Amino acid sequence: MKRKRVVVLGATGSIGQSARKVARDIPDRMEIVGLSAHSNAEGLREAQAEFPKAKAVLSSGPDGEERLIELAQMPEADIVLIAIVGTGGLRPALAAIEAGKDIAVASKEILVLAGEAVMTAAARKGVNVLPVDSEHNAIFQCLDGRAADSVRRLILTCSGGPFRQTPASELDSVTPERALKHPTWSMGRKISIDSATLFNKGLEMIEARWLFGVPMDKVDVIVHPQSIVHSMVEFNDSSVLAQLSHSDMCFPIQYAVTWPERVANSLRPLDFAQLAKLDFEAPRREVFPALDLAHRAGSEGGTLPAVLNAANEVAVDAFLNRRLAFPAIWQTVEQAMNEVPFVAHPSLDELLEADRLARAAAAAAIG
Ligand code: NDP
Ligand code: MG
Repeated sequence: MKRKRVVVLGATGSIGQSARKVARDIPDRMEIVGLSAHSNAEGLREAQAEFPKAKAVLSSGPDGEERLIELAQMPEADIVLIAIVGTGGLRPALAAIEAGKDIAVASKEILVLAGEAVMTAAARKGVNVLPVDSEHNAIFQCLDGRAADSVRRLILTCSGGPFRQTPASELDSVTPERALKHPTWSMGRKISIDSATLFNKGLEMIEARWLFGVPMDKVDVIVHPQSIVHSMVEFNDSSVLAQLSHSDMCFPIQYAVTWPERVANSLRPLDFAQLAKLDFEAPRREVFPALDLAHRAGSEGGTLPAVLNAANEVAVDAFLNRRLAFPAIWQTVEQAMNEVPFVAHPSLDELLEADRLARAAAAAAIG
């Protein structure tokens, strides 16, 4: 197999750093040819020192998006890894598809905002959308090319986050510091808060709906505190396939890049005797309303997922800045979903407008 040439958008983040680690681990199979950061110039210099031949750009400032698009379309690249937090990676992702590149998507927000547009564009161009989010990468591995009509249920596993067992009455007093402490994964700030509210799992339900072309009713969630089973597929014949590994994003990043091949690496294998047991339990849906809000948004479709995603981004930011109590993140999102006018079959511009209106509605609700 030839070496895959990869552009990493968001190279200074948690996923970006794991991608760099994978490239250093399997240099014969993965070469980084492009790197971006937003404003962390020092971090970008560090990344460039690791891959001196790669083109590097900073995306903050006036023509930032143009620079990302240029990088996403560079002729030397086979795959563009979208590891930008939030929806800033949408246009670069669409540009990469237009240029005939496969995209590896970590940035679940772009699939929640515009999953249909991304998947339709990719199908039209005949390029692959490779899931990097660990759950979706697991499902991608379990499906192994099988069609959606052989699937009864996609079962997303969920660590439960830092408040899995916290009484609902204590959630009011949760601080950003406590919410940022994830029990099993080390990640960027935004996704860490999303994991604490379970909006991360909610976004992933909608992400799964688009990546695998199944209705929301076939997307299920089970809490699995050890984060060893990364997700499962139940097929029509009631057989279930699962993918297991330690919780390290290098696994799904490598598989997305080297797919369909499996390449030897230096990652730590599982020791089942030491693991001893794997637990599963139902999520507390009444305590964590993010799951039901996401189910509603994904089922009703249209602009609703975009509104959920945008309002959540604003609410998370306010929570991190101590302007919003933890449970008010859910309330802010629900309020925006009820307030922003619904469009059933939105164009990309209408989705972006819904995103803008939701941010305004959330900001007004927060005050
Ligand atoms: P981080 O916050 O750690 O990193 C974000 C990266 O995006 C940085 O390189 C940052 O640059 C860049 N960036 C930030 N804002 C912008 C912008 N407006 N335009 C362009 N670039 C920007 O995030 P994570 O790595 O944790 O997450 C990235 C994405 O991957 C998210 O969508 C997340 O949901 C998803 N994901 C993450 C997982 C994880 O384990 N971390 C697991 C599964 C999915 P700078 O450093 O200059 O600010
Ligand atoms: Mg995930």
